[in-house]
Amino acid sequence: MTEQVGYSGRLLVLDDESDVASTICMMAEKASYATAHTDDADIFLDKVVSWAPTHVMVDLQLADRDGVEVVHRLAKMGCKAAVIIISGLGQRIIDSSARAATENGLWLLGTLHKPFLRAELMDLLAAGAPKKWPQRLLPLAVRPQRQILKDQLAQALRANAFTVYFQPKIACHNGKLVGFECLARWPQADGSMIPPDQFIGLAEQTGMINELTRQVYQFALANLPGRPANAELKFALNLSPINFTDETFPRWLLDQCRDHEVAPSQIILELTETASLDNPLALLENLTQFRIRGFHLSIDDFGVGYSSLIQLARLPFSELKIDQMFVKSLASSEESRKIVTAMVGLGHSLDLNVVAEGVEDPYALDFLRGLGCNEAQGYFIGRPIDSRAATAWNGFSLERSE
Ligand code: C2E
Ligand code: CA
Ligand code: CA
Repeated sequence: MTEQVGYSGRLLVLDDESDVASTICMMAEKASYATAHTDDADIFLDKVVSWAPTHVMVDLQLADRDGVEVVHRLAKMGCKAAVIIISGLGQRIIDSSARAATENGLWLLGTLHKPFLRAELMDLLAAGAPKKWPQRLLPLAVRPQRQILKDQLAQALRANAFTVYFQPKIACHNGKLVGFECLARWPQADGSMIPPDQFIGLAEQTGMINELTRQVYQFALANLPGRPANAELKFALNLSPINFTDETFPRWLLDQCRDHEVAPSQIILELTETASLDNPLALLENLTQFRIRGFHLSIDDFGVGYSSLIQLARLPFSELKIDQMFVKSLASSEESRKIVTAMVGLGHSLDLNVVAEGVEDPYALDFLRGLGCNEAQGYFIGRPIDSRAATAWNGFSLERSE
């Protein structure tokens, strides 16, 4: 059906039970929706591009694919439609698929458990009435090519263009500033900043990460906020396991620290995805060398991805950084509260400093304080800011959270 003036929205349904799909469409049409449905994931994804639906509905069990993969593709395409997940599977599976959609950055409107009532569908559609109709997406073929981004990245490296933002970290028990995490940023001509998620992976895959890391570290060390006034502050820098292929890096880092009068004990190296390195012995040796030289080592994003209990036990970490996924959802999820409680206990039993990131509300900070978690970082405390603003950052009052 084609779009006409007067429609409440455009609903596109992917379900291989065609009678279910057509019933949904019929119900939605009664609520003035333009609708379309298909049982083929590829046709569905093409139509998302060409028809720009305001709402998409995805069944989790499809004949040829699973709905989670489709949801992932939707996110990769930059789909702005309201997403509804439908399934006859158990609630836990529906909930985790819904979480995957949200974590992928999609706008998840809700979930429907089959069989559902007409009223449930209508309530969901009404809740997601589009304020602004989405634009048609650019077909993948004409999106900016990876090669262009790669060339721009190489050019930015030559121009020494990368900069660093600093995000405050506080002690949970008294709210005092303990240091900052240093986060890479790529400034653009219009004054905006490209976040690292959009270039670190590419730099890792194209052999540019070693140079990028040196540039970022050099900028950070030359612009550490709050120094020399507060010599107690510690600074966390992110390290990719690929950096270990740069054999002169540890020596270089020590020299940089000396030049900028920063003791290695003031630096925390945050490492993610430790299992992705093919050579576990090399990783063990590298990390031990950093520790011997006095640097702190943090296992970043603990609880997700590749970080694992095995890594934690056999590698010389001095800090455990709980992934923000669990921390952001403390107020809303009993499961997250249990996991975070266990992680803080685990970290302390291994004599590690425990840091929680992704503290977005006072509830999370109070909960962490109650657990005896050592440090906290997150938007509720302070966002990443430039060095000047970070130096002027006038702290965090615990009263704000009470
Ligand atoms: P990360 O190390 O887990 O850093 C934390 C990210 O979470 C930062 O995003 C930060 O801005 C964001 N964040 C902090 N608090 C909150 C919060 O309360 N809510 C939410 N929603 N987000 C919060 P950013 O700066 O975009 O960095 C993304 C990732 O890029 C970092 O994740 C890190 O893995 C990587 N990265 C950044 N700088 C470097 C670098 O110099 N080298 C390497 N290898 N990776 C880097
Ligand atoms: Ca980090
Ligand atoms: Ca992290």
